[in-house]
Amino acid sequence: MSVPYTDIKSFLIDGEWVLPTQGYEPILNPATEEVIGEAPLAGRTEVEMVLAAARQAFDQGPWPGLPMAERIAAVKRLRAAILAREVRIKALLIAEVGAAQLLLNSAQFNGAIEAIDYAISLAEKLEPYGTPIELKPNPFDSAGGEILAAGMVVHEPYGVVVGITPYNYPFLLNVVKAVPALLTGNTVVIKPSQFTPFSGLLLGEMIVEAGLPHGVLSVINGGPEVGAMLTEDPRVDLVTFTGSDKVGQAILRQSAGTLKKVHLELGGKSALIVRQDADLLKAAATAAFSMSLHAGQGCALLTRYLVHNSIRPAFVETVKAVLGQFKLGNPADPSVVVGPLIRESARQKTEQFVQMGLDAGACLVAGGRRPAFLPRGFFHEPTLFDNVDNSSTLAQEEVFGPVGVVIGFDSDDEAIRLANDSKFGLSGAVMSADRATAYRMALKLRTGGVSINGGTGDFFVKAPFGGFKHSGIGRELGKDWLNEFLLEKSITYPIG
Ligand code: NAD
Repeated sequence: MSVPYTDIKSFLIDGEWVLPTQGYEPILNPATEEVIGEAPLAGRTEVEMVLAAARQAFDQGPWPGLPMAERIAAVKRLRAAILAREVRIKALLIAEVGAAQLLLNSAQFNGAIEAIDYAISLAEKLEPYGTPIELKPNPFDSAGGEILAAGMVVHEPYGVVVGITPYNYPFLLNVVKAVPALLTGNTVVIKPSQFTPFSGLLLGEMIVEAGLPHGVLSVINGGPEVGAMLTEDPRVDLVTFTGSDKVGQAILRQSAGTLKKVHLELGGKSALIVRQDADLLKAAATAAFSMSLHAGQGCALLTRYLVHNSIRPAFVETVKAVLGQFKLGNPADPSVVVGPLIRESARQKTEQFVQMGLDAGACLVAGGRRPAFLPRGFFHEPTLFDNVDNSSTLAQEEVFGPVGVVIGFDSDDEAIRLANDSKFGLSGAVMSADRATAYRMALKLRTGGVSINGGTGDFFVKAPFGGFKHSGIGRELGKDWLNEFLLEKSITYPIG
């Protein structure tokens, strides 16, 4: 049976379906290694075409100047087109991304709808605002008279926005890049990951159905070269990127020559602090789930477990027991909790980290291998190490595979020092019966988010998401989300 949307053979550019100049690339189902489709591949020609179309749609088209209500109506039509295809999109995400089905009803698909609704609610509230009125010396009155000074602050779109997204939550992130940019009057080009192109290209028919003006939203598929062309181009005003810190650095360099705004949502190595008084089972279940969720392919997953030494042995044994409950396999089976890694290269990277842990003398508690009962697919067992040195590569670098490390501590101060001893700062967590102490510790963590005792446990669009340090620049979601895509302009005048 063919996978929905894998028959897409062209790009929607400026209202026309255009065959690719670079041919097609086979796309694999990571759980079976089977080719699910041949995705069109873009090159310089398509980059020229999408940017010319996006520029034209911004500079001459009606889109940026439309009343907000009309842009909201267009985005609502896009939302309806997406919802009408929910079953097919979810089927694609299982096959292309290897997403376990329990993720589809949260961030992978439903989260995208939640994000659209929240962005619309913010757009409805967006209004110019007045500055305070003040008495100021009149610069043109040598006699020292005064004027009553006032002003308005209005919002304007940046222009052409390029969104570059990773493979792990592709549909969600394509939507999270495109929708706020569109609502605020920008025109948008999305470049999804070359591993998950169909989760982006599928938007083509919905763009047509929603009646978005030509050139306002385009999606092209390609690898790092296409991403580089887009980010270097002077016609682009803003790049919003989600991916690794190394590519984030490259994008900053590539964008520097044309001084565009760059928004970066990058990786993490987030710490879960388990105090002596924590609910041990809850803490262990959180750790086991976090390291296994989406086979560890999540930016904000908790993968460093800082555990009070008095309860460390019990914690480790409990995590191991919980890991033993998770079913590993092809996510086409709805009872599967842990799916595959995206490609063989990702599995090999995970294996290198496991070897590094063993070489450094860390204690392998669970996993550590390819599961023998799954000969096809890029699977790796959820793997737990104890007695890990926080300064080791295994504790410092993002594996992006199902690997967790346990590090002991003896005092709250030591736990905070260890948690902050990381180049990353995306998320974090504290588990403790003493909520006030947990809150005080959360305030000291240098990360974009902290959950206490499990947090809300859900994708939470009303909270801003983003990183400190190597985890990024800027925030997505939250009440100021749309401001990332807007320039403020102050218009000042005397009123008396
Ligand atoms: P990646 O950085 O390898 O690639 C991301 C995207 O960048 C892809 O579309 C890729 O083609 C493109 N790209 C690569 N080189 C480029 C270049 N020089 N110029 C422009 N574009 C280029 O990331 P990945 O492996 O797809 O995803 C995993 C990473 O994403 C992890 O580090 C993870 O933590 C991070 N991530 C972060 C968030 C977040 O919100 N903070 C969310 C999801 C994933």
